[in-house]
Amino acid sequence: MWQAVKGEDNMAHHFDLIAIGGGSGGIAVARRATEYGAKCAVIEASHLGGTCVNVGCVPKKVMWYAAQLNHALHDAPDYGFDAALTTIAPRGHLDWQQLKTKRDAYVERLNKIYARNLENSGVTVVKGRAAFTSENSVTVAGETYSANHIVIACGGRPALPKIKGVEYGITSDGFFELAAAPRRVAIIGSGYIAVELAGVLNGLGSEVSLLLRRQHLLKNFDVMLREALLEQMQDDGILIATGINLSAVERGRDEVLTLRTHDGHTMAGYDALIWAIGRESNVDGLNLAAAGLSIDEAGFIAVDSFQNSIVKGIYAIGDVTGQAALTPVAIAAGRRLADRLFGGKPTAKLDQRNIPSVVFSHPPVGSVGITEDEAREQFGDDVKIYQTRFTPMYYALTTRKQRSTMKLITTGADEKVVGCHIIGDGADEMLQGFAVAIKMGATKADFDNTIAIHPTSSEELVTMR
Ligand SMILES: Cc1cc2nc3c(=O)[nH]c(=O)nc-3n(C[C@H](O)[C@H](O)[C@H](O)COP(=O)(O)OP(=O)(O)OC[C@H]3O[C@@H](n4cnc5c(N)ncnc54)[C@H](O)[C@@H]3O)c2cc1C
Repeated sequence: MWQAVKGEDNMAHHFDLIAIGGGSGGIAVARRATEYGAKCAVIEASHLGGTCVNVGCVPKKVMWYAAQLNHALHDAPDYGFDAALTTIAPRGHLDWQQLKTKRDAYVERLNKIYARNLENSGVTVVKGRAAFTSENSVTVAGETYSANHIVIACGGRPALPKIKGVEYGITSDGFFELAAAPRRVAIIGSGYIAVELAGVLNGLGSEVSLLLRRQHLLKNFDVMLREALLEQMQDDGILIATGINLSAVERGRDEVLTLRTHDGHTMAGYDALIWAIGRESNVDGLNLAAAGLSIDEAGFIAVDSFQNSIVKGIYAIGDVTGQAALTPVAIAAGRRLADRLFGGKPTAKLDQRNIPSVVFSHPPVGSVGITEDEAREQFGDDVKIYQTRFTPMYYALTTRKQRSTMKLITTGADEKVVGCHIIGDGADEMLQGFAVAIKMGATKADFDNTIAIHPTSSEELVTMR
């Protein structure tokens, strides 16, 4: 129930909307709401920009560029460049510290840009950790703030296993603090963060073991992508071991790590260990109970398709909901919510279908729509698959080879394209336009009727037979 907060001081602390969390989702909902004239605050316990800017997409992509550049340096002599000038930079040759300093400075610049944008929009930024005191109020450092609408946008954090010696490993957050490339690193996990960090570290000269509990990488992706990526990572020298269930980690006097498995195996000689086993919601200390809320069985804040929690006036967006954990998803959910609450668009909500996603592996993976397995489950025999595998022209002159594989999944007599899956150089940039076409309901004939761009890899997608 709405409770007025009395007193002049407290009125200054009353808002139309408070976003708890100044990450992708929280900033998006507050800025969009202010465009409609709402008085908004964002409460942020750490750095503005959240996971994406500080310990996610942004610094990750910088590292990915560095690894890509190293692959290009390796290839350069094949194009006639002086091999002496383009020696591949194994561990030690790369000035990791310089890269880190420049990357951190870039992130800091972004923090400032976010602060400026919020200020320019008229959003109040409250620094500190919020905890609910009722369903319409929170405290931050002893001050109470209230709002008609409170949006929980606290994001997620890396999950850790409950095993002895877990503290000897770092997470993706710790990866961004590394002062030097590890010589030999074990990465535990099979999701996109594990895959991306494995690719970056391998590309920058570390000896990488990727240890999977089960058999497959990227379990929610199309089988073609999973198999092609596994093959490519192995070709690139990453050791991939499956069925690894760790029981303990030990650190020797020389700081070197030994990993023990439940079935009695030992893997020794690692100077770094990265846990990338998944992410959980970041709701510690939020005192959800004071607002009549709790987390669901999976550990997230349950919301309906309009981001409503079970308490009227409290919403959740982004990673804290357990929905597709991607920055643009958190942003879109936040903007739609503001449109609905303040913009006179009562039906505005995030469309969860056909969310494109990219894994920044080497080469990258791009995927939109459903997988072949999902298509067969939904449409039975009414599914037609188009697939191609080729070596992009870039590799015609290089000794290092990388293949590209693409798949279109169609259904119905009109062959509506319901899935598009790509692994190969440029997949990250290629996918966005195809995602628009698929969102609009494009058919295979629409793809065929589109003139190819030559010579590119993407032309394969409009010339498949
Ligand atoms: C290594 C890595 C790589 C990634 N790469 C990509 C990528 O390439 N592309 C992509 O789309 N997504 C990527 N993601 C995912 C993306 O970062 C998240 O989906 C996105 O940041 C979620 O936004 P959010 O607003 O839900 O939460 P966040 O961005 O995590 O923001 C939550 C904020 O809330 C703050 N907070 C938490 N509790 C409180 C509290 N009680 N009081 C005040 N503040 C609080 C936190 O400090 C944080 O700043 C990556 C994630 C990781 C970890």
